[in-house]
Amino acid sequence: MINTDLFNNILTQHKEEGFITSELSYEENLKYDNTLDSSNPNLAKWSECLKYLSDVVSPQVYKTWFSSLKAISFSDNTITLQVPSQFYYEWLEEHYNHLMSQALLKVYGDNISIMYQVVIEKANDNNLEDRVVKLPATNKQVVQTVAQTKQTAEIEAISTTLNPKYTFENFVVGDNNQLACSAAKAVAKSPGSTNFKPLFIYGNAGLGKTHLVQAIGNSIQANFPDKVVVYTNSDKFYKDFVISLTSGNLVTFLNSFQKVDVLIVDDIQFLSGKTKTIEHFFHLFNDLHQNNKQIILTSDKAPQDLVNIDERLISRFKWGLTVDVHAPDVETKIAILKKKCSDDGIEIPFDVLEYIAENINTSIRELEGALIRLIAGYTLDRKELNINLAKEIVMGYNKFEPKPVSLEFIKITVSDYYKIPIELVESNTRKQEVALARQMSMYLTKKFTKLSLKNIGAGFGNRDHSTVLHSCTTINNYLDTDRKVKADYENLVNYIKKNTIID
Ligand code: ADP
Ligand code: MG
Repeated sequence: MINTDLFNNILTQHKEEGFITSELSYEENLKYDNTLDSSNPNLAKWSECLKYLSDVVSPQVYKTWFSSLKAISFSDNTITLQVPSQFYYEWLEEHYNHLMSQALLKVYGDNISIMYQVVIEKANDNNLEDRVVKLPATNKQVVQTVAQTKQTAEIEAISTTLNPKYTFENFVVGDNNQLACSAAKAVAKSPGSTNFKPLFIYGNAGLGKTHLVQAIGNSIQANFPDKVVVYTNSDKFYKDFVISLTSGNLVTFLNSFQKVDVLIVDDIQFLSGKTKTIEHFFHLFNDLHQNNKQIILTSDKAPQDLVNIDERLISRFKWGLTVDVHAPDVETKIAILKKKCSDDGIEIPFDVLEYIAENINTSIRELEGALIRLIAGYTLDRKELNINLAKEIVMGYNKFEPKPVSLEFIKITVSDYYKIPIELVESNTRKQEVALARQMSMYLTKKFTKLSLKNIGAGFGNRDHSTVLHSCTTINNYLDTDRKVKADYENLVNYIKKNTIID
């Protein structure tokens, strides 16, 4: 039987995350659960598919697209999944069909097809039957997947499945990763026959290391089907090692690696301090190297900066090519966002992408997360795809509370900008720079808020509406004639737009 608790937890989490605001109510979901065929063990297995999906996509993607998928029936080798909207169905079909097929294949084996059941939103009547539309899934990639994943159990045990979404085609090259990408492509083209043994890619989190090394793996699997590619990370390697040690299977474990042509170990820094694992990895490295096998490693630090790892191993890391990836510049970030949008067939105004690119500086993973939130906000929450939505999202990342623009905010901003105390801005002083700050504040308040001239006047030392009107005319004239005032105006407008929500 489907795990109702799990489903409801996910649903709550989903709501809290703000990804979805319109879906069936809790009670309606329960009603659905009551209709489930509780005796069908195949339905329960759906949670294993979800587990698989959660391992191969980012938490954000998982939450947005998979966590609310519900398996409602299983018969004639067909699983029926309930999705919250038509849009969900289309998006899943277009973007995640391949991954879903792979998940089904892993869990159920061959020949399972998907049916989607879409619940029509915003229907007023309570007849659930009338609110459901059934749609078939394309499932076209299942057969191809079978061929790709046929590996010996021995190799499967030491490897993690490569994520098909990581390819060279969807990796955007910029100054930050050019060298790493060229080296990766060279290795993918002639694994084991370049001088890059090993290829060692390092850099901070979220900058594309895993993407690049998995792209190498995917490319080799596609172009050299006879080569055995193992992708693992040092944490899995460590755990596998410990398990084999405690279960007396160490020799079998180490022997499995003798069959490997391409060994990719992600995040090697986690080996730090694990002396025994390092010792065995050292021997493994030597064996593979001597046999001209390709080794590819990633790390968050350069080899020389790794701590608590045997010096002999570190010196071997430097035998091949060591190359770093760093944070992308704004142009590359925009290119990455554009690429992701075009891959997803969604068009987002340039200024929105630019805003995201300029304001998310941490990593490409965060950049991607922001884009997914943007798309989710637009498609699921029906928000307008504009700079305000971008701001809301960026502020969420930067842990600010987005605030609507206000007279107070403008007054503070302008007085800060001109370095004139607020009391002076509000006073009757006619000194030119004070008058300019006052007039500019009123002008911007008129521009950005819905306040009447009267209310604006009241907010600036109880002036009447004609003073406000006069201020607006004065600034308008300046904008046509005075470059300095125009530059001030533009700076202030940018700042206000960046830091507030504007209706
Ligand atoms: P790392 O392994 O360095 O922590 P990842 O490879 O996991 O980073 O990258 C984080 C996310 O950013 C992934 O979804 C990846 O596809 C994406 N990404 C990183 N660099 C690029 C790039 N140059 N082009 C497109 N996507 C990228
Ligand atoms: Mg990584």
